[in-house]
Amino acid sequence: MSGLVLFRRGRVIDPRHGIDGVRDVLVRDGKVAEVSEAPLQVSGAEVVDAQGRWVLPGFIDLHVHLREPGEEGKETILTGCRAAVAGGFTAVVAMPNTKLVNDSALVTELVLSRARAARLCHVYPAGAITKGLKGEELAEMGELVSAGCVCITDDGRPVMNASLMRRSLQYATLFDIPVMVHEEDLTLSGKGAMTEGPTATRLGLLPIPPSAEVAMVARDLVLLEETGGRLHIAHISCEGSVRMVREAKRRGLNVTAEATPHHFTLDDTAVGQYDTHAKMNPPLRLRRDVEALREALADGTIDAIATDHAPHGVLDKQVEFEKGINGVVGLETALGLTLALVHDGVLSPSKAVELLTHGPARAFGLPGGHLAVGAPADVTLVDPAAEWAVDAERFFSKSRNTPFNGRLLKGCVTQTWVGGRLVFSNGQIQEAR
Ligand SMILES: [Zn+2]
Repeated sequence: MSGLVLFRRGRVIDPRHGIDGVRDVLVRDGKVAEVSEAPLQVSGAEVVDAQGRWVLPGFIDLHVHLREPGEEGKETILTGCRAAVAGGFTAVVAMPNTKLVNDSALVTELVLSRARAARLCHVYPAGAITKGLKGEELAEMGELVSAGCVCITDDGRPVMNASLMRRSLQYATLFDIPVMVHEEDLTLSGKGAMTEGPTATRLGLLPIPPSAEVAMVARDLVLLEETGGRLHIAHISCEGSVRMVREAKRRGLNVTAEATPHHFTLDDTAVGQYDTHAKMNPPLRLRRDVEALREALADGTIDAIATDHAPHGVLDKQVEFEKGINGVVGLETALGLTLALVHDGVLSPSKAVELLTHGPARAFGLPGGHLAVGAPADVTLVDPAAEWAVDAERFFSKSRNTPFNGRLLKGCVTQTWVGGRLVFSNGQIQEAR
């Protein structure tokens, strides 16, 4: 499985090292061995003709829900990893809000062993901040980190208790891990079903004001300033939150943020006539919020594009809007939606690639995200000119809940390599058996 692979004459984009040009990339024993402007002649290498392709560091998704253990009807670690590599992701961070919450080494080890058995991409578990995600008592952070968790989060829920949140930030400094936060003041979001604005008014739906997010971002930045830990804001969605993160970064606070493709692509009007596929938490916001996210992706305020891949069954969405469950699948549409920002002139190709690779790697201190000599040979090949229509029926994910079904996208993943091994090629998963 190791050996030599030569990616010949592709456009290598490695934002961490400022590379954007035609190169040959040689992989030996699962690592990048050479990146050369001049063509390489290597005997015995498997040659991948990459002309017309982008040769990129494998994508890293800081925010996915793999649903195992407990909700294997929606997704398993294996099917989630298939969806990941089909979308060009070579590493994903698995959220702890599974039915058996990942608040102990036992669950962390289970996730890691299932991921090893899947043998497709790297899976980094995230542990819970509080036991059972109940927001009452801190989980055993040291135990979770020793078992392999790369961050802690109660994602799906906020930590409403400010004192508990402050202690988790303080405690996390001992382990130098980020505390990832789902920012929502439940007393403000209440029973709201979508963002406050003209669409909510037209449909007669209870609104969620932007302050539900922005006020919590403000609180946590204040706490961060006192504790000096690392704060990562998940799925940032409001203009006001973006402004505060930008200002906090300017003042040198250790805060990072991610945005999802659905939040930087769609606004509240996507809810149309009560379309539950456009129901998520945080909700789709107004056009000016979408514009603020795009600006923040371009200027570095937002560090990473993360999908918040959230698989759900058909019946979870075939209900009244208020009862519809939150979330969309995202792994297999992320690249195309990110490249739409390049086609729209919002991001340069290099910036778009950075947001999927080095940006998330840097935010969490994960390996990969670049293609220097010695780096893991996690490589994604993209055909930037390929036009395709999203067809949810063809997803490798077990679930189909996407608001992007039928959308035309330009740019697709043609191959994904993890540790020098081909795991996805031209629409097919390459299972190692
Ligand atoms: Zn969340």
